[in-house]
Amino acid sequence: MLLLIICSPSGAGKSTLTRHLLATFEGLAFSVSHTSRPRRGQEEDGVQYHFTDRAAFETKIARGELLEWAEVHGNLYGTAVDEVERARAAGKVGVVFDVDHQGARQIRAKAPDAVSVFVLPPSMEELRRRLETRAEDTPEVIARRFAAATREIDHYSAFDYLLVNDDLENAKRAVEGIVRAELNRRHRNAGFAESLLQSTLRAPRA
Ligand code: ADP
Ligand code: 5GP
Repeated sequence: MLLLIICSPSGAGKSTLTRHLLATFEGLAFSVSHTSRPRRGQEEDGVQYHFTDRAAFETKIARGELLEWAEVHGNLYGTAVDEVERARAAGKVGVVFDVDHQGARQIRAKAPDAVSVFVLPPSMEELRRRLETRAEDTPEVIARRFAAATREIDHYSAFDYLLVNDDLENAKRAVEGIVRAELNRRHRNAGFAESLLQSTLRAPRA
């Protein structure tokens, strides 16, 4: 199972790139996080997030139901422990986690072979522009997220891949390339190589 972590400062484009991956690779599932953040415009419960209140979220933490969780921009976010099993049961070959750097660290600690991608904006000015043109947050929330961007970027060195999301089409190709390469890692296809060898051994000699 490919565990793919995508992380970036808010507004750099990780949701856009994640949507592209899910549209491109049928075998990928999106890990739907739980959050205490209020729902934005077009968001649907159970699709982008499972929306919950803070008290219910804290109960989940206390019961050990979360693989990882963190407080981000004043709200709680977390991934349920059964998210990977849910994807496996649905016949998926990979799961995409859209989490902050704290969540990425916790997932890597539990699953060291997880693959992590950090998405950078081409400039801080462009990051601000994207946060503003997305027009889904209040000016206070935008200011808070922009102020947090440098602290998030500061964690880039813990990630396997660093991707600059300047031209969107290029960035889509790049993230797609990462997934294609990772799905072809030796350990993922070793079983197939072994089955070929076995079939050769069993084949009657000419
Ligand atoms: P994040 O999930 O990292 O917070 P989003 O994917 O929501 O960011 O992107 C923030 C805004 O920037 C959205 O309005 C999105 O359409 C836009 N955007 C994303 N990538 C690019 C890009 N390469 N060029 C221009 N705009 C982009
Ligand atoms: P947003 O409110 O813009 O959807 O997300 C804000 C931040 O929370 C983003 O950095 C996003 O990656 C992070 N986030 C979303 N879900 C989770 C999660 O389950 N765990 C953690 N640790 N962070 C999350």
